[in-house]
Amino acid sequence: MTGIVYKSTGSWYTVKSESGDFVDCRIKGKFRMKGIKSTNPIAVGDHVDYELEESNNQITGVINAIHDRKNYIVRKSVNLSKQTHIIASNIDIVFLLVTINNPPTTTSFIDRFLVTAEAYGIEAVLVFNKIDTFDEAALDEQLFLQYTYEKIGYQCLRVSAQERKGLDKLIDLMKGKVSMFSGHSGVGKSTLVNAIEPSLNLKTKQISDSHSQGQHTTTFAEMFDLSFGAQIIDTPGIRGFGVVDMEKAEISDYFPEFFKLKDQCKFNNCLHKEEPKCAVKEALENEEISWSRYNSYLKILEGDEENYRTDIYDE
Ligand code: GDP
Ligand code: ZN
Repeated sequence: MTGIVYKSTGSWYTVKSESGDFVDCRIKGKFRMKGIKSTNPIAVGDHVDYELEESNNQITGVINAIHDRKNYIVRKSVNLSKQTHIIASNIDIVFLLVTINNPPTTTSFIDRFLVTAEAYGIEAVLVFNKIDTFDEAALDEQLFLQYTYEKIGYQCLRVSAQERKGLDKLIDLMKGKVSMFSGHSGVGKSTLVNAIEPSLNLKTKQISDSHSQGQHTTTFAEMFDLSFGAQIIDTPGIRGFGVVDMEKAEISDYFPEFFKLKDQCKFNNCLHKEEPKCAVKEALENEEISWSRYNSYLKILEGDEENYRTDIYDE
């Protein structure tokens, strides 16, 4: 039998079978995914094979194989052991909620997120929320951001989760796919998901709560079916994306507008900093590449010496 993991609580996995039933499954023996060393061998979103078992008049399942993952996102523990935990897998599309104010979302945060999405190979869409609160300055800023990101190929949506505006396009994009929603605490993720599917009833927070720290508790991702033929993976406590370790020279590959120009740089290992005849720097001077994107690039490049990481959590 084949199914998809909807929930995991450590040793048990809730698997939805192809016929739509949910079965509680365990893993057989020392089953491990090839290649990846993680604290959890199986994650939400995984496609698995399992066999049914009966004991004490209860039907449960035993997972005996996992299908190749199209992608997966991880979190690494900050402690020395740096253990990897797979948060979720097989994600089709990820929506980054962006607010101009309350809370402000910086371009640096947006760009780190997009770089990580590119590295994971997951389509990313920007969703500007709280458009009902915009004054002229906020509107200007939002439209400028939208221009910047649409120009380099990212889809942008404008919504008000609270007033249920702009949701049709979002729903269209979600149909038939597995989605994830990310963004800072307080941007309206729960409000938006509840507006799309009221029966889910995810907990919303008042903005004032979002400043309280210490929210890095262990939380479990969970997949939900939506009534219009879509799935969503809820990842409580996770604002953005996992950590990806990259080589220095690799970072610009995940800025699509830089990547396009890469072959035109004089040096094939060009970091687009001080090198002569750099096509990226030229495009920057000609205003074809935006300074905020370039600054985000430098920030990632000049970050951690060992790993160029794009962190998930709220600061
Ligand atoms: P989350 O932390 O991203 O899940 O954010 P919440 O969904 O808990 O929302 C945080 C706060 O923003 C709540 O007080 C919401 O009522 C408010 N909020 C969410 N969406 C909107 C919106 O479109 N317009 C306005 N004015 N407020 C919103
Ligand atoms: Zn260059």
